[in-house]
Amino acid sequence: MSKLPLSAAKDPMGAAIYEYHTKGKAAKLRVFSSQFDEDEIPVADLFRGFDEMPYLEKVALEMAQGSILDVGAGAGCHSIALGQMGKRATAIDISPLSVQVMRERGVNARTADFFDPTFVEQYDTVLLLMNGSGIIGRVENIGKFFDRLKVLVRPGGCALMDSSDLRYLYEDEDGSFAIDLAGDYYGELDYQMQYRNIKGGVFDWLYIDFQTLSYYAEQNGFRVELVVEGEHYDYLAALRML
Ligand code: SAH
Repeated sequence: MSKLPLSAAKDPMGAAIYEYHTKGKAAKLRVFSSQFDEDEIPVADLFRGFDEMPYLEKVALEMAQGSILDVGAGAGCHSIALGQMGKRATAIDISPLSVQVMRERGVNARTADFFDPTFVEQYDTVLLLMNGSGIIGRVENIGKFFDRLKVLVRPGGCALMDSSDLRYLYEDEDGSFAIDLAGDYYGELDYQMQYRNIKGGVFDWLYIDFQTLSYYAEQNGFRVELVVEGEHYDYLAALRML
């Protein structure tokens, strides 16, 4: 099912991006989850330049080649950095507000849902960054995710995706892990965002450890490579069709 159109009245992140773009500053972008205390996304971070990016993202941008699809591109920071490196990127996002901002920033952007079966272009590199596994939502959707990569990644190309192993959230002081193995996968979070008086709907956002990702990749005809690990249970993976 397509998430489009994401209406402006239900798009807090798009509103935050739009306001930061037009005014140079923004209010708090609040994040709620049934699993955690309220948190906040610093809106300026969505406008980060190459130098301010985490190491994993820099590596992904260096590796990206040929025609590049920036999935869930937000304010377009990765597409802009790629342009500055002389690389060709197309950005998609389900937020029309974010897409408008990206276009005003010179990005080749359009409103599209990664899971929309009518979106059938092919790219040498598909980028999914800032916990790019998030859009998978829940582990049960992972087959659909790989089906889409089969369409979007040109043979010989790859998808570059970052994620984190959230097990540290469940670690006890003695180093053991309090994870309920019979329950839902521990990286399945639900989120809801709010910007000023604009509150979005609740959505699922998946964090997946490398081993679990590898298992499902293989089941779905993909080979996964651990490109680099970050400083805190995070990593960048390259997914290639077998
Ligand atoms: N990649 C950007 C933004 C990350 S926030 C950055 O690193 O700064 C995640 C973005 O993904 C949001 O802009 C959201 O609107 C978009 N998104 C969520 N689900 C999507 C989907 N199914 N298809 C395309 N974009 C999606």
